[in-house]
Amino acid sequence: MSKVNRFDVITIFPEYLSPLNLSLIGKAKDAGLIEIGVHDLRAQTNDVHGSVDDTPYGGGAGMVMSAEPWGKAIDAVAELAPDVEHELIVLTPAGQKLTQELAVELTKSKHLIFACGRYEGIDIRISDYYARANGFKVREVSIGDYVLGGGEVATLVIMEAIIRLLPGVIGNPSSLDEESHSIIDGDSALVEYPNYTKPKVWRGLEVPDVLLSGNHGEIAKWRLEQAKSRTKNRPK
Ligand code: SAM
Repeated sequence: MSKVNRFDVITIFPEYLSPLNLSLIGKAKDAGLIEIGVHDLRAQTNDVHGSVDDTPYGGGAGMVMSAEPWGKAIDAVAELAPDVEHELIVLTPAGQKLTQELAVELTKSKHLIFACGRYEGIDIRISDYYARANGFKVREVSIGDYVLGGGEVATLVIMEAIIRLLPGVIGNPSSLDEESHSIIDGDSALVEYPNYTKPKVWRGLEVPDVLLSGNHGEIAKWRLEQAKSRTKNRPK
């Protein structure tokens, strides 16, 4: 059994996932901290056109992604991590909304499979079937209340939110404790306080004196007040 978290993405646009080779995620993959596979759904089709969609039962506009290629693709990637539970993430604007809390929870999953929909989405029987299948867990996830053209960008967002939390991925892990949605005040999570760096004055705007004082107690107090005020005044 692999000790690192494995991520498999199924899509009709594998090139859309090329940012996974860059920055933190690319480095984590190169360092062997995670494993990533990107798979073309059309590889699971038999006809010359590589068809992955069909007209919706009941009529209506648009096309629906067919269950058969999806089932084959998911079964094939499950074999890449045979000893662990597979968590199938079906991207859909109708799903559970991504939050920092959900990202933290998903770090516990050893094998995440991302199903990137296109057109009107994926035949619902994919979610229904794998929710009952042995060794699988299904979660429908949305990255917000708007509609994208496909699940690829949503997958990049979710993977980045998860992977940066995994051990060894960020150089100084304590920076994860003091950021938006992780700063806890009583029962609520706050957004981060404002940050400044050199120079002390930029275009007439000065760094607050407290941050130059060297008084760590006062700095912590000021930052907490700022975080509370920014959280309270954040546009809804
Ligand atoms: N007909 C679907 C509906 O009304 O809910 C929208 C389909 S959308 C055009 C095509 C695909 O993009 C979806 O199947 C999903 O994979 C992805 N998608 C769109 N918006 C998303 C969002 N907010 N979060 C996650 N995935 C999204």
